[in-house]
Amino acid sequence: MAQKTVFKRIIDGDIPARIIYQDDLCLAFHDVAPQAPTHVIVIPKREIPSLDEVSDDDAALVGHLVVVVRKLAGQLQLDGGYRVVVNCGPDAGQSVDHLHFHLLGGRPMSWPPG
Ligand code: AMP
Repeated sequence: MAQKTVFKRIIDGDIPARIIYQDDLCLAFHDVAPQAPTHVIVIPKREIPSLDEVSDDDAALVGHLVVVVRKLAGQLQLDGGYRVVVNCGPDAGQSVDHLHFHLLGGRPMSWPPG
């Protein structure tokens, strides 16, 4: 059996996380190594390895994740703005093979990203 990703282990309750939101479809928790004062990870409960493996059938699910990101940004009072990042594949530095949105805020950010 393939080894669980760290995010699947969080979904299954095998390891703890600072969960701030969940519903039938998704889970949101604070990143363990925050890159900004607010750094939240939003994931689907269903395992999709990366953005590159999102299919037409996943459109509603991915839309839901984006709506959850927007609602969390409001609840976390990221009134000055925020950045949403999806790293996809090795060149982007994806380190966990489970689709996830980074929600970053609480400080000014530069562009382009590194
Ligand atoms: P990425 O590099 O885009 O794949 O992002 C993976 C993110 O997951 C990184 O920001 C990690 O700090 C974060 N991460 C890894 N393990 C955990 C964990 N156990 N709890 C919360 N965040 C984690």
